[in-house]
Amino acid sequence: MNSILQHDLNDFENILEKAKQQGINFLNNLENIPTSNKNKIDLKRDLNELGLGSVEAMKEFNERLAPLLVSSPGPRYWGFVTGGSTPASIAGDWLASVYDQNAQSINSQGGNSALIEFETINLLLQLLELPDSFLGGFVTGATMSNFTSLAVARQWFGKQFGKDFAKNGISETINILTATPHSSSIKSLSMLGIGSQNYTVVKTIEGNREALDITDLEAKIKALNGAPFILISSAGTVNTADFDDFESIFKLKEKYKFWWHIDGAFGGFAAVSEKYKHFVKGWENADSITIDCHKWLNVPYESAFYLIKKEHINMQIETFQNSNAPYLGNPLENFNYLNIVPENSRRLRALPVWFSLVAYGKEGFCDIIEKSTLLALHFANALVDDGRFELLAPIRLNNVCFTLKGNENQDKVNEFLKKLNDTGKVFMTPTVYQNKKGIRASFVNWRTNEEDIRIVIQEMITILSQI
Ligand SMILES: *Cc1c(COP(=O)(O)O)cnc(C)c1O
Repeated sequence: MNSILQHDLNDFENILEKAKQQGINFLNNLENIPTSNKNKIDLKRDLNELGLGSVEAMKEFNERLAPLLVSSPGPRYWGFVTGGSTPASIAGDWLASVYDQNAQSINSQGGNSALIEFETINLLLQLLELPDSFLGGFVTGATMSNFTSLAVARQWFGKQFGKDFAKNGISETINILTATPHSSSIKSLSMLGIGSQNYTVVKTIEGNREALDITDLEAKIKALNGAPFILISSAGTVNTADFDDFESIFKLKEKYKFWWHIDGAFGGFAAVSEKYKHFVKGWENADSITIDCHKWLNVPYESAFYLIKKEHINMQIETFQNSNAPYLGNPLENFNYLNIVPENSRRLRALPVWFSLVAYGKEGFCDIIEKSTLLALHFANALVDDGRFELLAPIRLNNVCFTLKGNENQDKVNEFLKKLNDTGKVFMTPTVYQNKKGIRASFVNWRTNEEDIRIVIQEMITILSQI
């Protein structure tokens, strides 16, 4: 063994202890670490001939790289839809690295770590009150979950014409209907060879809504003259957290032939709360669902899962089968993730989620979800009370979409946001909603509290006096 590696092997405990201390220093200081910075590194660092060993590498990381990193798991990072990480999720994530399993099989001599993934999916189905007619698996994010689901939908579409698209390529125009898809679904259409422009936009409900208009959906379905299609629907749009009407969509599913996908990356967690579960009523009838865990479940990146109805397992295997050999035996008994997801080798991505669910239970997550929505309301009220801001949409769940009041201030929105983000006290993202420049704040982090809202409002008032 190389002498530096040998030294590190003997020094394992000390190295992990130092990494732990480094982590604790960061986590215990999250509130004071800026949410943005302009630090850069010289990218021309030479690879050393002789290794430095882990302890020296950590010193260099501390000096050169750590200053690049922002407080994105902290309580005032409200841009995009950004979760943090709870103690249990970090413990699970660390152990996933330590155990370093290749999670594939539930029934092999080489280890059955995928059983942990099965159990975790089962716990998630209970959390979201979904039936076990879904089979799920972990992927890196909601983008890959949308991709995985829509890949099986593509195979289903071919089957309606007696074609096997996975084997022979796409030979029919695939009909896609959607109202307010997330950009990652459109990216998936591109990756799947369907084409990112090849979808039909369904109207949204009149007024200030992003949910699809059921009457227009049915009109667009009728225009297809009985041809099958794929419907991409939303449980939580990113601007205004709007939900499509799943009970009405289900009624259409009894009349027309389509694959029904729901992107519930963050909005799916509405199911956890008695107050908000009405938003997802009927979603159990979908063919596939996307959920992110690195958002509202507050586990570290990269964590999301897909749920696809068990009845579609053979089409899922046709899509993702790794070898050309016919699948051996019953796919549910000889189950191997290798043949049903995009990745072959995969880490034990379920473990941080398993730890989180076991550690905090249904109530813990219900509390996080309900507290986030209260904070969103609280922040929105503070904006309205100030009088110089305007909400662009009502607060349905955890997202606040707002702008500077008055059309004459539209030109100042970007400058305002840039200055605000430059304070490093808070981070929000720009958006355009109904042709207006706006700002989004999304409440997902388990640490955020009322004091954070007070700090941010104070900063916003200061910036207003500077523009
Ligand atoms: C965040 C998000 C995605 C993409 O998720 P990643 O985890 O970034 O891949 C997809 N859909 C919705 C609704 C989202 O909020």
